[in-house]
Amino acid sequence: MSQIQEVKDANNIVEVVGEKIDLRPSGSSFKARCPFHSEKTPSFFVHPEMQRYRCFGCGATGDVLDFLQNYDGMTFYEALKHLADRASITLKDFNRTSEDEEREQLLGILNLAKEYYHYLLTKHKAGKQALAYLKDRGTNSQSIKLFYLGYSLQSWDGLIKYLHQKKKYPLDLIAKTGLIIRGKGGRYYDRFRGRLMFPLKNHRGQVVGFSGRLLDAQAKEAKYINSPETSLYHKSKLLYGYSELFREIRKSNKVVVVEGEFDVISSSQAHINDVVAVKGSALTIDQIELLARVAQTVILAFDQDEAGITACKRAITLIKDKDLDLRVIDFQSLNNLAKSKDLKDPDDFARQEPKLWRQAVDEAISIYSFLLNIAFASYDAKSPDGKRKIIDDLAPIIDGIDHLVEKEFYLQKLSEKLNVKLDLIKEDIVRVAK
Ligand code: ZN
Repeated sequence: MSQIQEVKDANNIVEVVGEKIDLRPSGSSFKARCPFHSEKTPSFFVHPEMQRYRCFGCGATGDVLDFLQNYDGMTFYEALKHLADRASITLKDFNRTSEDEEREQLLGILNLAKEYYHYLLTKHKAGKQALAYLKDRGTNSQSIKLFYLGYSLQSWDGLIKYLHQKKKYPLDLIAKTGLIIRGKGGRYYDRFRGRLMFPLKNHRGQVVGFSGRLLDAQAKEAKYINSPETSLYHKSKLLYGYSELFREIRKSNKVVVVEGEFDVISSSQAHINDVVAVKGSALTIDQIELLARVAQTVILAFDQDEAGITACKRAITLIKDKDLDLRVIDFQSLNNLAKSKDLKDPDDFARQEPKLWRQAVDEAISIYSFLLNIAFASYDAKSPDGKRKIIDDLAPIIDGIDHLVEKEFYLQKLSEKLNVKLDLIKEDIVRVAK
């Protein structure tokens, strides 16, 4: 018997798939909403006697190894290794491809770097100032541990000394992680220097990159720098906090999407544990796919500047055909409640007004109401010109609402607020949307 067969036999596909998605018994098999295409009623089946899955909607089919490759983006070797480990089988003489080998080495390097930075922050005297900074802003030691925060030395070769001189990794290999940079003269130097370090993990919990924040707010360099795109780190696919908090997210069936690392950490300290961050406010389809796996309600907590509002509008088109309830935290009314204080982002709210922040999450409004409010705040609803601009702004959004009852609700609201007959509004919306 080949080792591949041995590993497959030792892992029940129903259990492996069931750890990832919500499987329900259906006759002699199990069914779920398909993770490989968007659908509202389940047509994805897992058959225990055949040890295979099959979707009648999109035709996806395969065995347990195929599932892990397609669902989790593992390579064949990674899937095999994952299942072997799961069943306590040692893989013998299995020929890995050179890409697999390199991938494993790069992940090893990134993991060592994570440990190194964390050690400097928590145990070494060089990290004292950074640690004091965290204490000062209220980041507690559980958070430091959960998110594995770290500190990079104010030096050109702190990490190089550790990874290359001590751990003997070749410099060109380390450079492939984005942690060090080759200068013009051919000398390598550390990318992250004198910064608070946030490990960035993919959805499987592997460290694939870092974000580094300067402590000194007056410094001339960029406040945040991130790992560059590498074979492992893809900014558009990463959600900060996802791997640490996805169990909480699944439990509450909702997720708050914020913009930065500290927004996540402070929110979780304020007992909002179903939270993730995108870097900036550009939510991508890959990120939506990840969120849709674990939650039905997605609450956007973006800056309400032009970029944030554009991101909200874009999110509407991204969730098309997905069974997601998209909501928005209305910072305008939140700020009115917080009155005197100057609170800018979720981090500020979570630290200074945790109760208010929890309330804001509970009372997040539908994305359509939010965009309606924005349009009415931007233009004069009494003038003909203002009315036209409001319709121009909202037509494509309201026309795109699939649910007819929901659509009618917003059309009526628009008719009342503009003081224009409902029939006319409907006609105009269809015309402009075209
Ligand atoms: Zn499918």
